[in-house]
Amino acid sequence: MSSSPEITQLVDRFGRVVDYLRISITDRCDFRCVYCMAEEMTFLPRAQLLTLEEIDFVARAFADLGVKKIRVTGGEPLIKKGVLGLLENLGKIESLNELVLTTNGSKLEEMAESLKNAGVKRINISLDTLDADKFKQITRTGDLKKVLKGIQTVIKVGFDRIKLNAVILKNRNHQEVTNLVQFAIDNEIDISFIEEMPLGIVDDHNRAEVYYSSDLIKADLEKNYKLNSIADKTGGPSVYSIVVGTNTRVGFISPHSANFCSTCNRVRLTAEGRLLLCLGNEHSVDLKQVIRANPGNMEKLKETIVDSMKIKPEKHEFDLNEQPILMRHMNATGG
Ligand code: SAM
Ligand code: SF4
Repeated sequence: MSSSPEITQLVDRFGRVVDYLRISITDRCDFRCVYCMAEEMTFLPRAQLLTLEEIDFVARAFADLGVKKIRVTGGEPLIKKGVLGLLENLGKIESLNELVLTTNGSKLEEMAESLKNAGVKRINISLDTLDADKFKQITRTGDLKKVLKGIQTVIKVGFDRIKLNAVILKNRNHQEVTNLVQFAIDNEIDISFIEEMPLGIVDDHNRAEVYYSSDLIKADLEKNYKLNSIADKTGGPSVYSIVVGTNTRVGFISPHSANFCSTCNRVRLTAEGRLLLCLGNEHSVDLKQVIRANPGNMEKLKETIVDSMKIKPEKHEFDLNEQPILMRHMNATGG
């Protein structure tokens, strides 16, 4: 039996309200970060991806169902043709409180002003290191100088919130957590540290590079800074502290060491239109098929989304000792 399309708030069978949608608008990227992609990637054929119009249609269905926050991500969202138009349209959805973007920063220098005009309020920029050679090693194709210029440009243009995201692994960049926090303090922006998640087969993993927990990062930082926990929740899985005497918040996203599933409020739309109910499981619904079989039928789409709440898993199944989720890389999923 299908559910009533009149529902205006998505709630799963564990009573969790789902009001946050992350959308991967493309699986393509100008970088090839070692933890995210293989060096030689085969991207999805374009016909398999949702069009910008289809993405907009899905976003509106979610907004009607009570979603208040949408994050546009990828792949690299800013290399997608037409991204500004999409953001502008999403920015006009009245019931949305927040339209946010996650980017690798490579296009920010040129695009910061237009992003602001399109209605983007918050930007997350991935930055794992301040060392140009290491940056090249991690991203394989990225140019640190360009990303740093992009960061300075978004700061100058001014957004409600600018946050860096750093994925930390022992012996790759764990030695840099203090430098990264100091960079955030100097620029009066925020930073979150992310424990690496086992998604997709990646080919670089050096055996000497191992898991480095949020607790270890925190202990490293506390040698130089006083951190006070704050209750600041921004609708994501980060747990925040403020660096005392500064405006900088430091977040910890700890899928391994501090499971955050009980408060999960989000779902993901993959670049090919699969609604993924949990990052650490394969439970999903093919929304592209529903849209293409029922063109323009918003009620059918909403009904499918409401029904999907029945299969949202209770928690993720990441286990550092187990095989990763092999066939799904973060770029198609929308990290
Ligand atoms: N290209 C954009 C970027 O890099 O910010 C947006 C997409 S990227 C997939 C989003 C975030 O996912 C980035 O901060 C990246 O560092 C993170 N990420 C990618 N693969 C990951 C993994 N295996 N574990 C944890 N985080 C990962
Ligand atoms: Fe591209 Fe972002 Fe993945 Fe790096 S993390 S390869 S920038 S999608």
